[in-house]
Amino acid sequence: MKIPDKRCWAEVSPENLLHNYHVLRSSLPGGCRFLGVVKADAYGHGALETARLLEKAGADYLAVACLDEALELREGGVTMPVLILGHTDARYTALLIGNDITQAVTGLKEAEAFSAAAQSFGGTLRVHMAADTGMSRLGFLCTGAELERGAAQLARACRLPGLDAEGIFTHFAVSDEPGEENERYTREQFRLFTEAIARVEAAGFRFRLRHCANSGAVLHCLPETALDMVRPGLLLYGYGDDAGKLGLRPCMRLKTRVLTVKTYGPGTTVSYGRRYTTARETRMGVLGIGYADGLPRLCSNHFSVAFPGGTAPQRGSICMDMCMVDLSDLPDVQPGDEAEIFGPGADLNVLSRAAQTIPYELLCSVSKRVPRVWKNFD
Ligand SMILES: *Cc1c(COP(=O)(O)O)cnc(C)c1O
Repeated sequence: MKIPDKRCWAEVSPENLLHNYHVLRSSLPGGCRFLGVVKADAYGHGALETARLLEKAGADYLAVACLDEALELREGGVTMPVLILGHTDARYTALLIGNDITQAVTGLKEAEAFSAAAQSFGGTLRVHMAADTGMSRLGFLCTGAELERGAAQLARACRLPGLDAEGIFTHFAVSDEPGEENERYTREQFRLFTEAIARVEAAGFRFRLRHCANSGAVLHCLPETALDMVRPGLLLYGYGDDAGKLGLRPCMRLKTRVLTVKTYGPGTTVSYGRRYTTARETRMGVLGIGYADGLPRLCSNHFSVAFPGGTAPQRGSICMDMCMVDLSDLPDVQPGDEAEIFGPGADLNVLSRAAQTIPYELLCSVSKRVPRVWKNFD
């Protein structure tokens, strides 16, 4: 049964998602393709709905983290190209080919395993080679003294039977962090990437899709990194420190409701651990959102929620299903009224700092108890 008066919910705006897609798309060099990253349930927004919108809008590619996420899209009727960025065991090669899923290849051994599996039943697996240029995670190692060997292995992997090496990609470690040193590191990663590609091409192989630009690279004006395709996630959803400057809009608005209101005298302690004491007579509201919904307990006492008439500071430890806010300065707020935790009216970056984390983590943390409601913001 659907309860109409939800205690908390996440509104997701299709209008803002499409707006962001078109803004990002129009900033790309001519001919550059657009891959939308929809891993982790589209950063908590809902992968299937997001994928369907991007498909209709004309995006070229989608990316997910793992096979289950790719299959969810296929089972939901998404037919556009889908790339798995993470590791998949070669025993699933038939499933990949059967569902027309593109797989990242993270090293020569993995390439050989996919090749053997594909050949064993006469199929061809479409792959993108992952080059590790300084992230030190997945991919053929192409840093420093390893560049020559990495490029040679890439060239070998590309020619393996049963593989169609459509693309090659690398991932930046600090493209989203400001400062000269970070920019230098990103440029060096990009140099290693293009150098590795040049060596593979010198050996007579050409990739159709070379890509490396995540949100950070798109944002920090590294246009040469666009190559054949860009690969933004966070920016597509309108989040990150500088998203607003680009005219991007947040796609998710996390909302809750005032359950009850009570007035306490000064010196009253609030919630578990008694970590807040009222300094004055205080009109305290109880909100229907807690850490089990994805509101981190770490930001207890360190953030405010937004009401139409102003903001209310959160007080005391955040509980599993509820938390308290000081409504003394908002006398008109009554039980049943809606509050915004983050979204267009409450900056997710501020909440992230209060929780000592990054917007990515808070978006992904909105739990499955919280219904996603796809509707344009009013
Ligand atoms: C998550 C991810 C992205 C998107 O990163 P954003 O910072 O959200 O733009 C791009 N590429 C890879 C390999 C990723 O894992």
